[in-house]
Amino acid sequence: MSKERKTLTTNFGAPADNDLNSVTAGVPGPVVLQDIHLIEKLAHFNRERIPERIVHAKGAGAYGYFEVTHDLTGYTKAKFLSGIGKRTEVLVRFSTVGGEKGSADSERDPRGFALKFYTEEGNYDLVMNNTPVFFIRDPLKFPDFIHTQKRHPATNTKDPDMFWDFLSLTPESVHQVTILFSDRGTPATYRNMNGYSGHTFKWYNDKGEYVWVKYHFKTEQSIKNLTRADAVAMAGQDPDHATRDLFQAIKRGEFAAWTVSVQIMRPEESESYRFDPFDITKVWPHADYPLHRLGRMVLNRNPENYFADIEQAAFSPGNFVPGISSSPDKMLQGRLFAYADAHRYRLGANYHLLPVNRAKAVKVDNYQRDGFMRFDSNGAGTPVYYPNSFNGPEPEAEAAEPAFDVSGIVGRHPYTHPNDDFVQTGELYSKVMSDGDRNNLIGNIVAHLGKAQKRIQLRQTALFYKADSLYGSRVAEGLGLDIKEVQSLAHMSHEQRAKATAG
Ligand code: NDP
Repeated sequence: MSKERKTLTTNFGAPADNDLNSVTAGVPGPVVLQDIHLIEKLAHFNRERIPERIVHAKGAGAYGYFEVTHDLTGYTKAKFLSGIGKRTEVLVRFSTVGGEKGSADSERDPRGFALKFYTEEGNYDLVMNNTPVFFIRDPLKFPDFIHTQKRHPATNTKDPDMFWDFLSLTPESVHQVTILFSDRGTPATYRNMNGYSGHTFKWYNDKGEYVWVKYHFKTEQSIKNLTRADAVAMAGQDPDHATRDLFQAIKRGEFAAWTVSVQIMRPEESESYRFDPFDITKVWPHADYPLHRLGRMVLNRNPENYFADIEQAAFSPGNFVPGISSSPDKMLQGRLFAYADAHRYRLGANYHLLPVNRAKAVKVDNYQRDGFMRFDSNGAGTPVYYPNSFNGPEPEAEAAEPAFDVSGIVGRHPYTHPNDDFVQTGELYSKVMSDGDRNNLIGNIVAHLGKAQKRIQLRQTALFYKADSLYGSRVAEGLGLDIKEVQSLAHMSHEQRAKATAG
């Protein structure tokens, strides 16, 4: 640090004469309104907080790089993926979802895993989670779902009835609920968890051929989780433990790394596959769609300033580069709008100009001007309309996603895909989990669901029973429920079950 004496200034650069005593009329005062330095300081302090993210408020992040290790250029023309050994700077922000900015890092919650690649064709964002599936598959349900994970409108506390009422009336959530209540719902640190795109994306090559892909980021630090008891203790001992861990590890030179792979599905396969490939409550089983190695991501640089680098970071699943695009996954379609909209609200219309969000490897040039906090030259005197004959920027037709067919009746279509909402949950419970995983899962569920009303416990336990009868029976036993009642609810249709357990 430089030893040179530095002058304290006002926000506009004038030297401040004193930073300890307000200007007063005599001793002890009153304070006079003409103390501009005091007023500027108090007024700025009042405005230090920007709106908290409605979801993913508590987070931590770091910079690093992504390196291509395997050639998949036959599938995508994205330039940052062209050529083994090619490196692209990245920023990652990890987070919990439901808690406020000061909530504990060890809370049971999915973890956000948001990633920005500063590519030579513009910023590409992947806004992932540490779970491969999600609770719902239609964005119309999202605000309701999040309300149930937040505070009750009257008590202002987290509410087990609200939490489980919604989930038990949303059967497609049972897969994600099972992962969330396994110990993967309380990762030991951000370094010890995987990242999954969950969503299906389109990759297209320079011949206009396309495939569907899902991304998998597997931790090289190995998966490590906290047990329920450890997570609860950690929330008291060090609510910032994962934030601290990431920063300290990078500071020590222990860089965190993930191997990056994709699953690839051909378009013709997507039409007849047994699971709906665009339903984010389902995975593509590895036996059907193995992982293809793509690269490696390393986080090796801490933010210099948390607010500038992490709080102001804004990710959007709609930030694509040529060669990568969206899919008909409805949740993804909703997020394409919602993320950028949230940033315009939280950071303002010019949030893309903030250093952390600004494209670094390419010049941004378009006809958008003005708005709050336009802090660059605002295009100076260059043309503000297109077309023009004053040498303004021109669209590049080659950047277009290849045109594709869609047809259908516009309407609010109920979900009719024949795939079953329970089979993958059953596979996870019976085939993937160890005895220890299952024991902890049942204990974690019983401890939480046990706080909800009995009729809600019954309705939710019926969903676990539908996934795997042993799973449901063990939860029923843990909660002291009548297994006959659970079985009878499990055999009803969704509508009948909702009616039989109505309040
Ligand atoms: P596989 O046996 O090939 O893969 C099982 C996957 O489950 C692995 O990716 C493993 O991740 C992950 N896993 C292990 N323990 C847990 C847990 N407690 N909670 C969540 N995931 C866990 O099986 P399939 O591909 O046929 O999938 C079977 C089930 O595994 C799925 O229904 C799904 O619930 C789950 N799963 C599947 C994934 C996929 O993309 N196919 C991804 C993640 C989970 P790791 O290798 O890192 O330990």
